[in-house]
Amino acid sequence: MTLSTFLAEQPAYFITLATLLGLLVGSFLNVLVYRLPIMLNRQWQREAQEVLGLVPDEHARFDLCLPASHCPHCGHRIRAWENIPLLSYLALRGRCSACKGAIRLRYPLVEVACALLSLVVAWRFGASLEALLALPLTWCLLALSLIDADHGLLPDVLVLPMLWLGLIVNAFGIFVPLTEALWGAVAGYLSLWTVYWLFKLVTGKEGMGYGDFKLLALIGAWAGWQILPLTLLLSSLLGAIIGLCLLRLRHRPVSVAIPFGPYLAIAGWIAVLWGDEIYASYLQLLGF
Ligand SMILES: [Zn+2]
Repeated sequence: MTLSTFLAEQPAYFITLATLLGLLVGSFLNVLVYRLPIMLNRQWQREAQEVLGLVPDEHARFDLCLPASHCPHCGHRIRAWENIPLLSYLALRGRCSACKGAIRLRYPLVEVACALLSLVVAWRFGASLEALLALPLTWCLLALSLIDADHGLLPDVLVLPMLWLGLIVNAFGIFVPLTEALWGAVAGYLSLWTVYWLFKLVTGKEGMGYGDFKLLALIGAWAGWQILPLTLLLSSLLGAIIGLCLLRLRHRPVSVAIPFGPYLAIAGWIAVLWGDEIYASYLQLLGF
């Protein structure tokens, strides 16, 4: 019996594997979400300084590998056993082993969220090619949501390769036929682009960013144009509900821009996983 047939016949093993993998990936996403915006910011500053004919600032090497992870309070270098997802946080009781400074609760929460999302993907698709492709999509959407929530930024280096991957995957018809994926990408971009310009012409304000258009194009490339109305409806609903709750909690003025990317990502993820079912029940409701 090959490994793939074994996993297909024993879905519990596949789901467990995917969940553990999700926990590990979640740990990496914490690094990515923290470092990528800083790396991009430095790169843009360097480019701007070059254009302006200034001497670029010198920085020590800073990327996804270096410097090694350390405690932000005391600089204690985090050893391998202190870097095991979730378990280390629990073993250390959320405190640095050197200075007892608090470790952000967000780190284990992201790891657990990534593990749970991976579990859902494995459960939804079973041991299949769909699952193996939907997992990286899920991780990427989680990273994008966190970066957008932190910085109001949806980095092209994450969005564009995933958009291309969606088209390539559907060239083989894995999720939807290629024509539907292509028009999904086009319509995803253009629909929000149109809303943006109408909103800007009427109010003179910018309601969202170009990153949002590309993110919806990405979702369309993976799941086809048919899921776009559902994605927009769901994300607006989510945005309205969560946005209002956050405003209540933080007592911020309503005019403060709230990133739309996380809601698009959540809605798009739901549409990729359950779009078919949601549409089928919708058509049934209409009596088709
Ligand atoms: Zn410390």
